[in-house]
Amino acid sequence: MQRSENIQVALRFRPLNVRESTKKDPEVWEISGDTTYLKPSWSERLMDSRKISISKAYTYNHCFSSQVSNEQVYQQTSRKVVEASLQGYNGTIIAYGQTGSGKTYTMMGSDGAELDKFYDKSFDNSESVKAKGIIILALEDLLKLVDSNKSKSCYLSCSYLEIYNEQIYDLLGEKDKITDTLIMQEEKGIGFYVRGLTEHVINSISDVEKLIKKGESNRHYAATAMNHHSSRSHTIFRVYVTSVSINTIAYDIGENITTESLLNFVDLAGSERVSSLQEAINPLETAVRFRVSRSPRETSKIRSSSTRRSIDTFVNEGKHINVSLFYLCQVISKLSQKHIIPDAHIPYRNSGLTKLLSTSLGGNALTCIICTATSTLSQFELTLSTLRFGGIAG
Ligand code: ADP
Ligand code: MG
Repeated sequence: MQRSENIQVALRFRPLNVRESTKKDPEVWEISGDTTYLKPSWSERLMDSRKISISKAYTYNHCFSSQVSNEQVYQQTSRKVVEASLQGYNGTIIAYGQTGSGKTYTMMGSDGAELDKFYDKSFDNSESVKAKGIIILALEDLLKLVDSNKSKSCYLSCSYLEIYNEQIYDLLGEKDKITDTLIMQEEKGIGFYVRGLTEHVINSISDVEKLIKKGESNRHYAATAMNHHSSRSHTIFRVYVTSVSINTIAYDIGENITTESLLNFVDLAGSERVSSLQEAINPLETAVRFRVSRSPRETSKIRSSSTRRSIDTFVNEGKHINVSLFYLCQVISKLSQKHIIPDAHIPYRNSGLTKLLSTSLGGNALTCIICTATSTLSQFELTLSTLRFGGIAG
């Protein structure tokens, strides 16, 4: 199928973690070029045992093996989206995948992913080297480009927000206000925006590092205050790029030409609850099924977990995650067919996430979706669901 030029999809496998290596969890997917294949020795076995028909190969714009660094992923996927923002194009970079597949590692780097680990002790990659995430790599690039461009004056600023159960929180606001929800509004000519969301000037990479640190600290504080797990919320780091070019003709009559663009870096909630689009359509049913599919021991673990979240909260979160990921998938799928059905209606209004991204998905905006996954047998179904999402998006 011909793909939309403005939407790029990449697949990234993360390295095996200690648990997978110790248990000798076999790798069932392999990569060749930009295609991932089900290893021939596994394909019949898996299809027989799962009683499903599985496409054995999935092709994307890029497929990255577990050896590929964040820097290489950034260069090949997100860099052009970031550079286009200086020409006035909006852009969105999304990490999609199940919890533990490497979304935060990709976006925030090893430090961000390690912070998340406090919530999930099953990962222990303490020996892994420090890696910058795409957000820092993007801002390093932007700051360099802004510095070297003599024909334009550029200004960078950012916001950092979290969407949890369809409510919006400002991760860069004051700590004592972190549980206050913000309201989204729509204005003609501007689109959707979040009223009261704080915006912070960026002059150097250390500004960005400090802001991300503050955001992460607020996020963990909020997670404790509201009893939720960070993998169940979406976060969006937004960068506003304003460039003023001194056009010689316009300069004569005293006018500068200003372009404004918006870049979104989205770390989505874990996709594990969207096991199929069909299930996502009926979120409550999925949440209930998810609940009963657990063993009594697991259910009692949920009940007595230190967070003591009620089953109702659990069902409610599942419902919101399913709904928002489903609508995001629907929007991206329609956008990727825009060259076939140019007049197709894009249903941005169905969720907070798609409303917020509406000006930076579609139109002239550039979108890059990085699907993170695991190549092991134990994660087969969840990886398959991510591969299918990537297929729909492209
Ligand atoms: P997610 O955000 O999808 O839940 P994380 O980004 O937190 O997953 O990754 C889970 C664990 O795996 C973390 O300990 C992280 O450091 C590690 N990890 C993920 N991707 C990579 C990678 N490409 N290279 C090395 N370690 C990784
Ligand atoms: Mg994460």
